[in-house]
Amino acid sequence: MFNKVLIANRGEIALRIQRACRELGLKTVAVHSEADADARYVRLADEALCIGPAAPGQSYLNRAAILFAAHVSGAQAIHPGYGFLSENADFAAQVEAAGMAFIGPEPDSIRTMGDKVAAKRAMRAAGVPCVPGPDGGLPDDPTEILRVAQEIGYPVIVKAAGGGGGRGMRVVPGPEQLLEAVSVTREEARRAFGKPELYVEKFLEHPRHVEIQVLCDTYGNALWLGSRDCSLQRRHQKVLEEAPAPGIDPELIRQVGERCVEACRQTNYRGAGTFEFLFENGQFYFIEMNTRLQVEHPVTEMTSGIDIVREQIRIAQGHALTIRQSDIRTLGHSLECRINAEDPFTFAPCPGKISVWELPGGNGVRVDSHMSGGAVVPPYYDSLIAKVITHGATREEALARMRIALSEMRIEGIRTNVPLHQAMLEDEGFSEGGVDIHHLERWLAKRKQT
Ligand code: ADP
Repeated sequence: MFNKVLIANRGEIALRIQRACRELGLKTVAVHSEADADARYVRLADEALCIGPAAPGQSYLNRAAILFAAHVSGAQAIHPGYGFLSENADFAAQVEAAGMAFIGPEPDSIRTMGDKVAAKRAMRAAGVPCVPGPDGGLPDDPTEILRVAQEIGYPVIVKAAGGGGGRGMRVVPGPEQLLEAVSVTREEARRAFGKPELYVEKFLEHPRHVEIQVLCDTYGNALWLGSRDCSLQRRHQKVLEEAPAPGIDPELIRQVGERCVEACRQTNYRGAGTFEFLFENGQFYFIEMNTRLQVEHPVTEMTSGIDIVREQIRIAQGHALTIRQSDIRTLGHSLECRINAEDPFTFAPCPGKISVWELPGGNGVRVDSHMSGGAVVPPYYDSLIAKVITHGATREEALARMRIALSEMRIEGIRTNVPLHQAMLEDEGFSEGGVDIHHLERWLAKRKQT
């Protein structure tokens, strides 16, 4: 049991976690860089400690400084949020070795899932459907490599076992390009991830990105909370998400959800997690598991009525889940627009001072943001400044509420991607539902031509 939580993150998620802690009656410790000293969540926290200069390597990724802050403040638990140290198994192990609770999975789970080859093997063993391709890493022998790819059938994708953030992968259309792609990706993997291991799998040409949220306690209870569709992406970055994934047979989602929780039970997974799949021609194919809270978790909260952050904390406190799978319903539909401080069409970051900040509201509208009028968006971090989330009885209602919400929003002083979201909400393909992961980039390319 703990009663003081250090939040090792910044921005909207630092505030989101702080709110959940306060609801549970827990004290909060905010750690921040010099650039975030005036942030609202820093002011609202019970205690705040500056852990270093603006550069993330010297502050939000500075493990020694964060552990020291936990020590001096007397925090007994650390919530890592998303990004930064959230999927760093060594950090999780250090937190536990210091006698604190890490609000997330066990270090070993993070390590296994961070290795995509090991993750795929664990998933296959639990009956989770995976992208066609061998379970192991690629051999060194060129003839063997060619044989493996031939067996899968082109196009294939060569991926780094330790890859992340959309880096360390290469699509290969035919055998002529294979060996060159393998050697370039291997070198890149060695440099970027410190691990040269590669694997190869079938390249799916027009998939959707569909994911399943899970929650597991330490007593063997594992739940899946429905599906999310995050197919609207640019350069593998999600832009707009929704729950449930439109147009997919709920029975199929149930079957996949059951396999996911089975995998959690087999691997003794703890806390919140997300199974990411590509979905093509009516089939699910596992690509990776995220062992942390995700940016898009609110759409699942809106449709399931479950506070995911609160449950994460309660699980870390040693409580058993009080909800059963049969209690979980998907009610209505929810959308989330990620509002970024950037040019809506060139995507150039646009940090600076916000002069006017007016947020939408009303029935079925939620805004998660740490910003306010007069606040400064620093140039050092991710450009997410708000998440606008709507809920409705149907997808149409959630869409209508989102259009109204964005029309009410007024942000001045910096540019934001609100106009891009507004254009997407008018787009015929997106409005119909079920677009593939290339839809947004196709739309942007077309817009550029005209
Ligand atoms: P990362 O950890 O870098 O995010 P993922 O394995 O989740 O890597 O893949 C990121 C993205 O790359 C996916 O969302 C998808 O767009 C694309 N991708 C990955 N594997 C495949 C595949 N087998 N076929 C088609 N696209 C893929």
